[in-house]
Amino acid sequence: MRQQTNPSLLNNIRIVLVNTSHPGNIGAAARAMKNMGLSRLTLVEPEDYPSLEAISRSVGAVDLLDDAIVVKDLNEAISGCVWVAGTSARLRTIEWPILEPRECVQKALENIEQGDIAIVFGRENSGLTNEEMEKCNALLHIPTNPDFSSLNIAAAVQVVCYEFRMALTNSRVTKHKGNKHRYDALANSSQLDGMYGHLNEALEYLGFFGTNNPDIVMRRLKGLFNRAGTTQRELSIMRGICSAIQDKKRPR
Ligand code: SAH
Repeated sequence: MRQQTNPSLLNNIRIVLVNTSHPGNIGAAARAMKNMGLSRLTLVEPEDYPSLEAISRSVGAVDLLDDAIVVKDLNEAISGCVWVAGTSARLRTIEWPILEPRECVQKALENIEQGDIAIVFGRENSGLTNEEMEKCNALLHIPTNPDFSSLNIAAAVQVVCYEFRMALTNSRVTKHKGNKHRYDALANSSQLDGMYGHLNEALEYLGFFGTNNPDIVMRRLKGLFNRAGTTQRELSIMRGICSAIQDKKRPR
């Protein structure tokens, strides 16, 4: 699994649309790309392009349309690419490694530092031909309702670009930014150690360990708090619980 993020690698990804018939879909695909920070659109023989409909559906992504490269065939679109995935709503009989978007992005990123990656999208009515698929290293299929598997092409572009963004950037939604109380910060390791010691004592007071090895029980509880990402506020609640247990159990 790739761990390093590098948003500039979004510039190494070409989104290739083959023989698109509706110009509105080209505009919507450009918008989907720009939302996710991708910029390189290649159009293979679009049926109706340039078009006002494409501009209108791109909303603020006209710059991507202005920079889009129009070519005559798929060979030209993917020339110089080190890794290419063809997308399909159908799971084909011919053998290609079939990847879901997240896996496909991971696979693409194994190669991206060597050069451009292309993700190829097919015609609205008939998808990609087998001959076109043969030029691809993998088949990307977005899992769907099997009885209704064909997404609008711009929606398919959106899903793929989103996965690239998630893999290559640190941008995540930060909830309640700005009004966070300092107690909502994560507890540090010495605060956690203090709480574990206190919890261990309290559980001993309770006679909770019985015949169990306290070290093993505590190790599991530490695992739980580490996974949870315990905040300072939560930690002080735990401390309060431990003190309350000790107060109850202390002989009066
Ligand atoms: N009837 C066509 C559907 C084409 S939809 C067919 O059977 O192939 C237009 C394009 O959107 C497809 O070529 C593909 O690039 C993309 N697409 C639609 N649904 C998809 C899915 N579930 N997974 C991957 N790509 C999809």
